Amino acid sequence: MTGITRREFNVLATGVSLATVSQLSRPALAAGPAKIVIIGGGPGGAAVANRLKSADPALDITLVEPKEKYTTCFYSNLYLGGFRSFKSITHDYAGVKKRGITLVTDTATGIDTTAKTVTLAKGSPLPYDRLVVAPGIDFKYDAIEGYSPEAAKIMPHAWQGGEQTWLLKEKLLALPDGGLVVMAVPQNPYRCPPGPYERACMIAHFLKTRKPKAKLVIFDAKKTFSKQAVFEQAFDEYYKDIVEINLTNEIDDFSVVKVNAATGAVTTKAGRAERAALANIIPPQKAGAIAASAGLTEGDWCPVHPENFASTKAKDVYVLGDAAIALDMPKSAYSAVSQASVVAADIIADLHGKPRVPGRYRNTCWSMVAPDNSAKIGGDYVPATKDGKSYLEVKDPFISKADDSADLRRQVFQESADWYQTIVEDLFGEVPPQPTLPNFRNP
Ligand code: FAD
Repeated sequence: MTGITRREFNVLATGVSLATVSQLSRPALAAGPAKIVIIGGGPGGAAVANRLKSADPALDITLVEPKEKYTTCFYSNLYLGGFRSFKSITHDYAGVKKRGITLVTDTATGIDTTAKTVTLAKGSPLPYDRLVVAPGIDFKYDAIEGYSPEAAKIMPHAWQGGEQTWLLKEKLLALPDGGLVVMAVPQNPYRCPPGPYERACMIAHFLKTRKPKAKLVIFDAKKTFSKQAVFEQAFDEYYKDIVEINLTNEIDDFSVVKVNAATGAVTTKAGRAERAALANIIPPQKAGAIAASAGLTEGDWCPVHPENFASTKAKDVYVLGDAAIALDMPKSAYSAVSQASVVAADIIADLHGKPRVPGRYRNTCWSMVAPDNSAKIGGDYVPATKDGKSYLEVKDPFISKADDSADLRRQVFQESADWYQTIVEDLFGEVPPQPTLPNFRNP
Protein backbone atom coordinates (compact mmCIF):
# COMPACT_ATOMS: atom_id res chain seq x y z
CA MET A 1 0.00 0.00 0.00
CA THR A 2 2.96 2.31 -0.20
CA GLY A 3 3.06 5.05 -2.81
CA ILE A 4 -0.70 5.56 -3.22
CA THR A 5 -0.28 9.30 -3.50
CA ARG A 6 1.91 9.63 -6.50
CA ARG A 7 0.90 6.40 -8.18
CA GLU A 8 -2.78 7.20 -7.96
CA PHE A 9 -2.23 10.80 -8.93
CA ASN A 10 -0.13 9.91 -11.94
CA VAL A 11 -1.67 6.77 -13.23
CA LEU A 12 -5.22 6.47 -11.97
CA ALA A 13 -6.18 10.07 -12.09
CA THR A 14 -4.52 11.69 -15.01
CA GLY A 15 -2.19 9.61 -17.06
CA VAL A 16 -0.04 12.77 -16.90
CA SER A 17 3.15 12.71 -14.84
CA LEU A 18 3.77 15.21 -12.05
CA ALA A 19 6.83 16.42 -13.93
CA THR A 20 4.65 17.18 -16.94
CA VAL A 21 2.13 19.05 -14.81
CA SER A 22 4.71 21.29 -13.20
CA GLN A 23 6.17 22.13 -16.62
CA LEU A 24 2.86 23.34 -18.00
CA SER A 25 2.78 27.04 -18.71
CA ARG A 26 0.76 29.00 -16.18
CA PRO A 27 -2.54 30.39 -17.43
CA ALA A 28 -2.91 34.15 -17.63
CA LEU A 29 -4.97 34.50 -14.44
CA ALA A 30 -6.37 37.88 -13.58
CA ALA A 31 -4.52 38.40 -10.30
CA GLY A 32 -1.69 36.07 -9.41
CA PRO A 33 -1.88 32.34 -8.92
CA ALA A 34 -5.22 30.56 -8.89
CA LYS A 35 -6.94 30.48 -5.50
CA ILE A 36 -8.16 27.11 -4.37
CA VAL A 37 -10.24 26.96 -1.19
CA ILE A 38 -10.85 23.59 0.43
CA ILE A 39 -13.48 23.13 3.14
CA GLY A 40 -12.67 20.27 5.52
CA GLY A 41 -9.33 18.89 6.67
CA GLY A 42 -10.24 15.19 6.70
CA PRO A 43 -8.86 12.62 4.24
CA GLY A 44 -10.77 14.17 1.33
CA GLY A 45 -9.79 17.81 1.89
CA ALA A 46 -6.25 17.25 3.19
CA ALA A 47 -5.43 14.90 0.30
CA VAL A 48 -6.66 17.39 -2.34
CA ALA A 49 -4.59 20.15 -0.74
CA ASN A 50 -1.47 17.98 -0.75
CA ARG A 51 -1.96 16.68 -4.31
CA LEU A 52 -2.48 20.20 -5.67
CA LYS A 53 0.49 21.66 -3.83
CA SER A 54 2.85 18.95 -4.98
CA ALA A 55 1.57 19.19 -8.56
CA ASP A 56 1.81 22.98 -8.73
CA PRO A 57 3.62 24.68 -5.81
CA ALA A 58 2.60 28.11 -7.10
CA LEU A 59 -1.10 27.53 -6.43
CA ASP A 60 -2.63 29.56 -3.58
CA ILE A 61 -4.25 26.82 -1.50
CA THR A 62 -6.30 27.46 1.64
CA LEU A 63 -7.60 24.63 3.80
CA VAL A 64 -10.42 25.58 6.19
CA GLU A 65 -10.82 23.26 9.17
CA PRO A 66 -12.15 24.16 12.65
CA LYS A 67 -10.31 21.45 14.57
CA GLU A 68 -6.67 21.79 15.51
CA LYS A 69 -6.26 18.03 15.64
CA TYR A 70 -7.90 15.34 13.57
CA THR A 71 -8.73 11.97 15.16
CA THR A 72 -9.18 9.35 12.47
CA CYS A 73 -12.34 7.27 12.50
CA PHE A 74 -10.33 4.66 10.65
CA TYR A 75 -8.53 2.62 13.31
CA SER A 76 -10.79 4.12 16.01
CA ASN A 77 -12.38 0.70 16.48
CA LEU A 78 -8.91 -0.64 17.30
CA TYR A 79 -8.70 2.01 19.99
CA LEU A 80 -12.00 0.73 21.42
CA GLY A 81 -10.69 -2.83 21.30
CA GLY A 82 -7.52 -1.80 23.12
CA PHE A 83 -5.08 -2.25 20.24
CA ARG A 84 -4.22 1.41 19.67
CA SER A 85 -3.87 4.47 21.84
CA PHE A 86 -5.99 7.58 21.31
CA LYS A 87 -2.80 9.52 20.69
CA SER A 88 -1.79 7.19 17.86
CA ILE A 89 -4.99 7.99 15.92
CA THR A 90 -4.84 11.76 16.49
CA HIS A 91 -2.83 14.03 14.18
CA ASP A 92 -2.20 17.76 13.92
CA TYR A 93 -1.85 19.92 10.83
CA ALA A 94 1.79 20.99 11.27
CA GLY A 95 2.80 18.80 8.32
CA VAL A 96 0.09 20.32 6.13
CA LYS A 97 1.31 23.85 6.89
CA LYS A 98 4.90 22.78 6.24
CA ARG A 99 3.89 21.89 2.70
CA GLY A 100 3.02 25.54 2.01
CA ILE A 101 -0.74 25.18 2.37
CA THR A 102 -2.50 28.01 4.21
CA LEU A 103 -4.42 26.53 7.12
CA VAL A 104 -7.36 28.55 8.40
CA THR A 105 -8.63 27.22 11.72
CA ASP A 106 -12.23 28.25 11.29
CA THR A 107 -15.65 27.02 10.18
CA ALA A 108 -17.04 27.77 6.73
CA THR A 109 -20.53 29.19 7.30
CA GLY A 110 -21.63 29.95 3.76
CA ILE A 111 -20.71 29.63 0.09
CA ASP A 112 -21.67 32.13 -2.57
CA THR A 113 -21.23 30.20 -5.79
CA THR A 114 -21.98 33.30 -7.90
CA ALA A 115 -19.57 35.70 -6.19
CA LYS A 116 -17.22 32.70 -5.63
CA THR A 117 -16.57 33.36 -1.96
CA VAL A 118 -16.64 31.31 1.24
CA THR A 119 -17.73 33.04 4.44
CA LEU A 120 -16.17 32.03 7.74
CA ALA A 121 -17.41 32.04 11.34
CA LYS A 122 -14.52 34.24 12.53
CA GLY A 123 -12.35 35.37 9.62
CA SER A 124 -12.86 37.43 6.47
CA PRO A 125 -14.53 35.85 3.43
CA LEU A 126 -12.25 33.84 1.16
CA PRO A 127 -12.48 34.34 -2.62
CA TYR A 128 -11.85 31.27 -4.78
CA ASP A 129 -11.25 30.27 -8.38
CA ARG A 130 -12.00 26.63 -7.58
CA LEU A 131 -13.68 25.34 -4.43
CA VAL A 132 -13.45 21.85 -2.96
CA VAL A 133 -16.09 20.91 -0.39
CA ALA A 134 -15.17 17.95 1.83
CA PRO A 135 -17.07 18.39 5.13
CA GLY A 136 -17.79 14.70 5.78
CA ILE A 137 -21.08 13.77 7.40
CA ASP A 138 -23.74 15.11 9.71
CA PHE A 139 -26.43 13.12 11.49
CA LYS A 140 -30.17 12.86 10.92
CA TYR A 141 -30.95 13.10 14.61
CA ASP A 142 -34.67 13.38 14.01
CA ALA A 143 -34.73 9.88 12.47
CA ILE A 144 -34.58 8.48 16.04
CA GLU A 145 -37.05 9.83 18.61
CA GLY A 146 -35.18 11.01 21.69
CA TYR A 147 -31.76 11.18 19.99
CA SER A 148 -30.01 14.56 19.74
CA PRO A 149 -26.52 16.06 20.13
CA GLU A 150 -27.23 16.16 23.90
CA ALA A 151 -28.36 12.51 23.99
CA ALA A 152 -25.19 11.61 22.04
CA LYS A 153 -23.18 12.67 25.09
CA ILE A 154 -24.84 9.82 26.99
CA MET A 155 -25.38 7.41 24.08
CA PRO A 156 -22.37 8.19 21.87
CA HIS A 157 -22.39 7.53 18.15
CA ALA A 158 -18.59 7.79 17.87
CA TRP A 159 -19.13 8.03 14.11
CA GLN A 160 -17.14 11.27 13.93
CA GLY A 161 -13.63 11.09 15.32
CA GLY A 162 -12.42 12.87 18.46
CA GLU A 163 -14.46 13.58 21.57
CA GLN A 164 -17.11 11.01 20.67
CA THR A 165 -14.54 8.25 20.17
CA TRP A 166 -12.99 9.05 23.53
CA LEU A 167 -16.40 9.13 25.21
CA LEU A 168 -17.42 5.70 23.93
CA LYS A 169 -14.16 4.20 25.21
CA GLU A 170 -14.61 5.85 28.61
CA LYS A 171 -18.11 4.42 28.82
CA LEU A 172 -16.83 0.97 27.90
CA LEU A 173 -14.21 1.20 30.62
CA ALA A 174 -16.89 2.23 33.12
CA LEU A 175 -19.37 -0.49 32.08
CA PRO A 176 -20.28 -2.81 34.94
CA ASP A 177 -19.39 -6.43 34.28
CA GLY A 178 -22.64 -8.05 33.21
CA GLY A 179 -23.82 -4.77 31.64
CA LEU A 180 -25.62 -4.74 28.30
CA VAL A 181 -24.19 -2.79 25.36
CA VAL A 182 -26.67 -2.02 22.58
CA MET A 183 -25.55 -0.86 19.15
CA ALA A 184 -27.87 0.70 16.53
CA VAL A 185 -26.78 0.40 12.88
CA PRO A 186 -28.46 2.51 10.17
CA GLN A 187 -29.68 1.79 6.67
CA ASN A 188 -27.34 2.41 3.68
CA PRO A 189 -25.75 4.65 2.59
CA TYR A 190 -23.59 5.64 5.55
CA ARG A 191 -19.92 6.25 6.37
CA CYS A 192 -17.82 3.06 6.24
CA PRO A 193 -20.18 0.15 5.44
CA PRO A 194 -18.19 -2.53 7.38
CA GLY A 195 -17.37 -0.13 10.25
CA PRO A 196 -20.21 -1.16 12.62
CA TYR A 197 -19.27 -4.84 12.41
CA GLU A 198 -15.57 -4.18 12.98
CA ARG A 199 -16.71 -2.12 15.96
CA ALA A 200 -18.87 -5.01 17.17
CA CYS A 201 -15.81 -7.30 17.03
CA MET A 202 -13.60 -4.81 18.84
CA ILE A 203 -16.20 -4.09 21.56
CA ALA A 204 -16.75 -7.84 21.93
CA HIS A 205 -13.00 -8.39 22.25
CA PHE A 206 -12.90 -5.72 24.93
CA LEU A 207 -15.81 -7.34 26.80
CA LYS A 208 -14.35 -10.82 26.46
CA THR A 209 -11.06 -9.77 27.98
CA ARG A 210 -12.28 -7.15 30.49
CA LYS A 211 -15.98 -7.64 31.28
CA PRO A 212 -16.65 -11.31 30.51
CA LYS A 213 -20.25 -11.30 31.76
CA ALA A 214 -21.27 -8.35 29.58
CA LYS A 215 -23.13 -8.73 26.26
CA LEU A 216 -23.50 -6.80 23.01
CA VAL A 217 -26.85 -6.68 21.19
CA ILE A 218 -26.87 -5.18 17.68
CA PHE A 219 -30.02 -3.81 16.07
CA ASP A 220 -29.50 -3.38 12.34
CA ALA A 221 -31.80 -1.54 9.93
CA LYS A 222 -30.41 -3.65 7.07
CA LYS A 223 -31.06 -7.20 5.93
CA THR A 224 -27.51 -7.87 4.80
CA PHE A 225 -24.17 -6.15 5.35
CA SER A 226 -20.62 -5.74 4.07
CA LYS A 227 -18.25 -8.73 4.52
CA GLN A 228 -21.16 -10.51 6.22
CA ALA A 229 -19.79 -14.06 5.94
CA VAL A 230 -16.47 -13.01 7.48
CA PHE A 231 -18.05 -11.13 10.38
CA GLU A 232 -20.62 -13.83 11.11
CA GLN A 233 -17.82 -16.38 11.20
CA ALA A 234 -15.86 -14.14 13.60
CA PHE A 235 -18.90 -13.62 15.88
CA ASP A 236 -19.30 -17.38 15.99
CA GLU A 237 -15.65 -18.29 16.48
CA TYR A 238 -14.55 -15.57 18.91
CA TYR A 239 -17.60 -13.96 20.47
CA LYS A 240 -20.27 -16.66 20.52
CA ASP A 241 -21.86 -15.88 23.86
CA ILE A 242 -21.19 -12.17 23.68
CA VAL A 243 -22.63 -10.84 20.40
CA GLU A 244 -26.25 -11.07 19.33
CA ILE A 245 -26.94 -9.52 15.95
CA ASN A 246 -30.50 -8.79 14.84
CA LEU A 247 -30.81 -8.09 11.13
CA THR A 248 -34.01 -6.70 9.71
CA ASN A 249 -36.01 -9.43 7.95
CA GLU A 250 -39.37 -9.93 6.26
CA ILE A 251 -41.17 -9.95 9.61
CA ASP A 252 -39.18 -7.68 11.93
CA ASP A 253 -37.63 -4.29 11.23
CA PHE A 254 -34.74 -3.78 13.64
CA SER A 255 -34.17 -0.11 12.78
CA VAL A 256 -33.82 1.76 16.07
CA VAL A 257 -36.63 4.32 16.12
CA LYS A 258 -36.62 5.55 19.72
CA VAL A 259 -34.15 6.00 22.58
CA ASN A 260 -34.33 7.38 26.08
CA ALA A 261 -30.95 8.66 27.19
CA ALA A 262 -32.16 8.99 30.81
CA THR A 263 -33.20 5.34 31.17
CA GLY A 264 -30.98 3.70 28.53
CA ALA A 265 -34.01 2.33 26.67
CA VAL A 266 -33.47 1.52 22.97
CA THR A 267 -36.54 0.55 20.93
CA THR A 268 -36.74 -0.91 17.42
CA LYS A 269 -39.45 -0.49 14.81
CA ALA A 270 -40.35 -4.13 15.42
CA GLY A 271 -41.15 -3.11 19.00
CA ARG A 272 -38.26 -4.83 20.72
CA ALA A 273 -36.88 -2.76 23.59
CA GLU A 274 -33.68 -3.21 25.57
CA ARG A 275 -32.44 -1.29 28.60
CA ALA A 276 -28.79 -0.60 27.76
CA ALA A 277 -26.07 0.06 30.30
CA LEU A 278 -24.28 1.58 27.32
CA ALA A 279 -25.89 2.46 23.98
CA ASN A 280 -23.83 3.13 20.86
CA ILE A 281 -26.35 4.76 18.55
CA ILE A 282 -25.13 5.22 14.98
CA PRO A 283 -27.86 7.35 13.39
CA PRO A 284 -28.70 7.71 9.69
CA GLN A 285 -26.42 10.24 8.03
CA LYS A 286 -26.28 13.04 5.49
CA ALA A 287 -23.67 15.35 3.96
CA GLY A 288 -21.97 17.86 6.28
CA ALA A 289 -24.30 20.83 6.94
CA ILE A 290 -22.35 23.39 4.89
CA ALA A 291 -23.07 21.37 1.73
CA ALA A 292 -26.83 21.58 2.22
CA SER A 293 -26.81 25.26 3.15
CA ALA A 294 -24.80 26.02 -0.01
CA GLY A 295 -27.36 24.24 -2.19
CA LEU A 296 -25.00 21.43 -3.14
CA THR A 297 -27.24 18.57 -1.96
CA GLU A 298 -30.06 16.60 -3.50
CA GLY A 299 -31.80 14.77 -0.69
CA ASP A 300 -29.17 13.84 1.88
CA TRP A 301 -26.03 13.87 -0.26
CA CYS A 302 -24.16 15.91 -2.87
CA PRO A 303 -24.53 14.67 -6.43
CA VAL A 304 -21.31 14.78 -8.48
CA HIS A 305 -20.11 13.90 -11.96
CA PRO A 306 -18.48 10.49 -11.52
CA GLU A 307 -15.64 11.29 -13.93
CA ASN A 308 -14.20 14.10 -11.75
CA PHE A 309 -16.38 14.70 -8.63
CA ALA A 310 -17.37 18.16 -9.87
CA SER A 311 -20.67 19.17 -8.28
CA THR A 312 -23.69 18.83 -10.54
CA LYS A 313 -25.19 21.80 -8.68
CA ALA A 314 -22.56 24.56 -8.96
CA LYS A 315 -19.81 25.56 -11.36
CA ASP A 316 -16.15 25.39 -10.31
CA VAL A 317 -17.11 23.47 -7.16
CA TYR A 318 -16.10 19.91 -6.35
CA VAL A 319 -17.52 17.73 -3.58
CA LEU A 320 -15.68 14.64 -2.46
CA GLY A 321 -15.36 12.18 0.37
CA ASP A 322 -18.33 11.12 2.45
CA ALA A 323 -20.44 14.19 1.58
CA ALA A 324 -20.61 13.16 -2.07
CA ILE A 325 -22.78 10.40 -3.40
CA ALA A 326 -21.18 8.45 -6.20
CA LEU A 327 -22.71 5.02 -6.09
CA ASP A 328 -21.47 2.35 -6.09
CA MET A 329 -18.32 3.71 -4.44
CA PRO A 330 -18.49 3.29 -0.64
CA LYS A 331 -17.86 6.13 1.78
CA SER A 332 -14.37 5.50 3.17
CA ALA A 333 -11.12 7.32 3.79
CA TYR A 334 -9.47 5.24 1.08
CA SER A 335 -12.20 6.30 -1.38
CA ALA A 336 -11.89 9.96 -0.33
CA VAL A 337 -8.13 9.96 -0.97
CA SER A 338 -8.57 8.26 -4.33
CA GLN A 339 -11.22 10.84 -5.28
CA ALA A 340 -8.86 13.61 -4.14
CA SER A 341 -6.25 12.50 -6.68
CA VAL A 342 -8.81 12.77 -9.46
CA VAL A 343 -10.14 16.14 -8.26
CA ALA A 344 -6.62 17.60 -8.04
CA ALA A 345 -5.76 16.35 -11.51
CA ASP A 346 -8.99 17.75 -12.91
CA ILE A 347 -8.40 21.17 -11.34
CA ILE A 348 -4.86 21.32 -12.69
CA ALA A 349 -5.95 20.27 -16.18
CA ASP A 350 -8.85 22.74 -16.13
CA LEU A 351 -6.71 25.66 -14.94
CA HIS A 352 -4.18 24.95 -17.64
CA GLY A 353 -6.76 24.42 -20.40
CA LYS A 354 -5.62 20.82 -20.89
CA PRO A 355 -7.83 17.79 -21.63
CA ARG A 356 -9.61 16.53 -18.52
CA VAL A 357 -9.15 12.78 -18.26
CA PRO A 358 -12.03 10.84 -16.63
CA GLY A 359 -10.93 9.49 -13.25
CA ARG A 360 -10.41 5.93 -12.14
CA TYR A 361 -10.75 5.22 -8.47
CA ARG A 362 -9.90 2.54 -5.96
CA ASN A 363 -11.13 1.49 -2.55
CA THR A 364 -10.09 -1.02 0.08
CA CYS A 365 -11.69 -1.35 3.50
CA TRP A 366 -9.90 -3.45 6.09
CA SER A 367 -11.58 -4.64 9.28
CA MET A 368 -9.95 -6.16 12.32
CA VAL A 369 -12.06 -9.01 13.70
CA ALA A 370 -9.70 -10.42 16.37
CA PRO A 371 -6.01 -10.14 17.32
CA ASP A 372 -3.83 -10.54 14.21
CA ASN A 373 -6.91 -11.21 12.14
CA SER A 374 -8.20 -8.72 9.58
CA ALA A 375 -10.38 -9.06 6.50
CA LYS A 376 -10.72 -6.77 3.50
CA ILE A 377 -13.03 -5.79 0.67
CA GLY A 378 -12.36 -3.54 -2.30
CA GLY A 379 -12.07 -2.93 -6.00
CA ASP A 380 -11.48 -0.34 -8.70
CA TYR A 381 -14.25 2.03 -9.79
CA VAL A 382 -14.78 3.51 -13.26
CA PRO A 383 -17.40 5.95 -14.55
CA ALA A 384 -20.25 4.17 -16.33
CA THR A 385 -23.81 4.85 -17.49
CA LYS A 386 -26.87 2.67 -17.00
CA ASP A 387 -30.45 3.56 -17.99
CA GLY A 388 -29.28 7.11 -18.69
CA LYS A 389 -27.78 7.49 -15.19
CA SER A 390 -24.08 7.98 -14.46
CA TYR A 391 -22.46 5.99 -11.69
CA LEU A 392 -19.19 4.33 -10.71
CA GLU A 393 -18.98 0.71 -11.68
CA VAL A 394 -16.83 -1.64 -9.63
CA LYS A 395 -14.12 -3.55 -11.52
CA ASP A 396 -12.07 -6.48 -10.22
CA PRO A 397 -13.75 -6.57 -6.80
CA PHE A 398 -12.15 -8.66 -4.07
CA ILE A 399 -13.26 -9.80 -0.64
CA SER A 400 -11.81 -11.95 2.16
CA LYS A 401 -13.41 -15.33 2.72
CA ALA A 402 -14.77 -16.75 5.94
CA ASP A 403 -12.40 -19.74 5.68
CA ASP A 404 -9.16 -17.81 4.93
CA SER A 405 -6.10 -19.26 6.67
CA ALA A 406 -4.79 -17.66 9.86
CA ASP A 407 -1.62 -16.75 7.97
CA LEU A 408 -3.51 -14.88 5.30
CA ARG A 409 -5.54 -13.00 7.91
CA ARG A 410 -2.31 -12.04 9.70
CA GLN A 411 -0.92 -10.68 6.42
CA VAL A 412 -4.12 -8.71 5.83
CA PHE A 413 -3.86 -7.27 9.32
CA GLN A 414 -0.28 -6.16 8.58
CA GLU A 415 -1.43 -4.66 5.27
CA SER A 416 -4.02 -2.59 7.11
CA ALA A 417 -1.43 -1.34 9.62
CA ASP A 418 0.88 -0.38 6.72
CA TRP A 419 -2.01 1.38 5.00
CA TYR A 420 -2.83 3.36 8.14
CA GLN A 421 0.76 4.52 8.45
CA THR A 422 0.95 5.42 4.75
CA ILE A 423 -2.30 7.36 4.63
CA VAL A 424 -1.69 9.44 7.76
CA GLU A 425 1.80 10.35 6.54
CA ASP A 426 0.30 11.23 3.18
CA LEU A 427 -2.34 13.42 4.82
CA PHE A 428 -0.57 14.95 7.81
CA GLY A 429 3.19 14.58 7.18
CA GLU A 430 5.66 12.62 9.23
CA VAL A 431 3.99 10.37 11.81
CA PRO A 432 6.04 8.05 14.06
CA PRO A 433 4.98 4.41 13.50
CA GLN A 434 2.78 3.13 16.32
CA PRO A 435 2.83 -0.35 17.80
CA THR A 436 -0.41 -2.28 17.82
CA LEU A 437 -0.49 -3.77 21.30
CA PRO A 438 -3.10 -4.53 23.92
CA ASN A 439 -3.16 -1.46 26.15
CA PHE A 440 -6.57 -1.19 27.69
CA ARG A 441 -6.37 2.19 29.34
CA ASN A 442 -5.03 3.86 26.22
CA PRO A 443 -3.81 7.28 27.28
P1 FAD B 1 -14.16 13.71 7.43
O1 FAD B 1 -13.11 12.74 7.77
O2 FAD B 1 -15.36 13.74 8.30
O3 FAD B 1 -13.51 15.13 7.40
C1 FAD B 1 -14.32 16.25 7.21
C2 FAD B 1 -13.69 17.44 7.91
O4 FAD B 1 -14.42 18.61 7.52
C3 FAD B 1 -13.76 17.35 9.42
O5 FAD B 1 -12.46 17.43 9.97
C4 FAD B 1 -14.65 18.52 9.84
O6 FAD B 1 -14.21 19.14 11.04
C5 FAD B 1 -14.52 19.46 8.65
N1 FAD B 1 -15.69 20.31 8.45
C6 FAD B 1 -16.99 19.99 8.49
N2 FAD B 1 -17.76 21.07 8.26
C7 FAD B 1 -16.92 22.11 8.06
C8 FAD B 1 -17.12 23.49 7.81
N3 FAD B 1 -18.34 24.03 7.70
N4 FAD B 1 -16.03 24.28 7.68
C9 FAD B 1 -14.77 23.75 7.77
N5 FAD B 1 -14.54 22.45 8.01
C10 FAD B 1 -15.60 21.64 8.17
N6 FAD B 1 -12.37 4.40 6.10
C11 FAD B 1 -11.40 3.64 5.54
O7 FAD B 1 -10.96 3.89 4.43
N7 FAD B 1 -10.88 2.57 6.22
C12 FAD B 1 -11.30 2.22 7.45
O8 FAD B 1 -10.79 1.26 8.05
C13 FAD B 1 -12.32 3.01 8.05
N8 FAD B 1 -12.75 2.71 9.30
C14 FAD B 1 -13.74 3.48 9.86
C15 FAD B 1 -14.20 3.15 11.13
C16 FAD B 1 -15.19 3.90 11.72
C17 FAD B 1 -15.69 3.55 13.09
C18 FAD B 1 -15.75 5.02 11.05
C19 FAD B 1 -16.82 5.84 11.68
C20 FAD B 1 -15.29 5.34 9.78
C21 FAD B 1 -14.29 4.59 9.16
N9 FAD B 1 -13.83 4.89 7.89
C22 FAD B 1 -12.85 4.11 7.31
C23 FAD B 1 -14.46 5.97 7.10
C24 FAD B 1 -13.66 7.25 7.11
O9 FAD B 1 -13.40 7.69 8.42
C25 FAD B 1 -14.43 8.32 6.35
O10 FAD B 1 -14.89 7.80 5.14
C26 FAD B 1 -13.52 9.52 6.06
O11 FAD B 1 -13.16 10.13 7.27
C27 FAD B 1 -14.20 10.51 5.14
O12 FAD B 1 -13.35 11.59 4.93
P2 FAD B 1 -13.93 13.05 4.61
O13 FAD B 1 -12.73 13.89 4.38
O14 FAD B 1 -14.98 12.97 3.57
O15 FAD B 1 -14.70 13.47 5.95
